[in-house]
Amino acid sequence: MSFIKHRSKPDEMKVLETLNDRMNLTVKEKYDLTNLAKGFEGEQKFDEWLLTLSNEWNILNDLRFEMNNTYYQIDSLSLFSETIYQFEVKNYEGDYYIEKDTWYSIKGKEISNPFLQLTRAESLLRRFIKSLGFNYSIESYLIFINPEFHLYHAPRNQQIIFPTQLPRFMNNLSKKTSKVAKNHTKIVEQLLHFHLTESPYNRIPKYTFDGLKKGIICIKCRSFINTFNRMYLICDHCGNREKVTSAVLRSVDDYMILFPEEKVTRKVIQEWCKIVPGKTIINILSDHYKMIASGKNSHYIKSDK
Ligand SMILES: [Zn+2]
Repeated sequence: MSFIKHRSKPDEMKVLETLNDRMNLTVKEKYDLTNLAKGFEGEQKFDEWLLTLSNEWNILNDLRFEMNNTYYQIDSLSLFSETIYQFEVKNYEGDYYIEKDTWYSIKGKEISNPFLQLTRAESLLRRFIKSLGFNYSIESYLIFINPEFHLYHAPRNQQIIFPTQLPRFMNNLSKKTSKVAKNHTKIVEQLLHFHLTESPYNRIPKYTFDGLKKGIICIKCRSFINTFNRMYLICDHCGNREKVTSAVLRSVDDYMILFPEEKVTRKVIQEWCKIVPGKTIINILSDHYKMIASGKNSHYIKSDK
């Protein structure tokens, strides 16, 4: 198989993770972050299974489309011969049950019906593919990836793959053979063309530079580092030691994630890192970024190398 489009950590998750270090998130925001992280982890686990497929498979991960003002996303879209396989991956853990088509966690909390989500995405995808003039058949599967997941009174539905069935399911896919090797270039081109890079869902709280806690965060225990040493920063909390350069570069990355529109200047990064002296900041920025010099407004951008 080949991953035509790779999966990366969702921007929303990156921003929430970084904010979590530097401000107080509400219970709801923390819950969203946990869910995003869990979902991402599940999808990555499924990617490992996809690696077992033959090289006739072309895989596009994490696609988002809009059709007639309706937005939908596909965790994994795999092309094999003249079939599109749509995979919706759920990393649910614990016990769940279904009552009259409604899904609940064992505590009785209603969750959005994942099977409905799958069929809805499938019908939108079907119309979309047809509108592009392609003639592929579509098979959709709901994959429960977490071995700790259990669904009471599970429906006998071949589109739902439970953790214990997954090895067999993937084995069957990997044994598939096609009579004619199909060239997927055209459809891949179209799928990527219509893919939306930004997610319309936004669970990110409002934040400002002034409102965030400044300083360098320990890579290991996420607490703030109190003291600066010339070469290494040592965390008072867990004792972890990290080179100043790498800690500053990490902090600049955080800044860029949170403020992608803002310029990276010496002044702002010094304030952001707080404990590191200005001269060290200048040295690190000059060594690792490209400076756009314009007097007082000099700033740094990522260099292409
Ligand atoms: Zn630490």
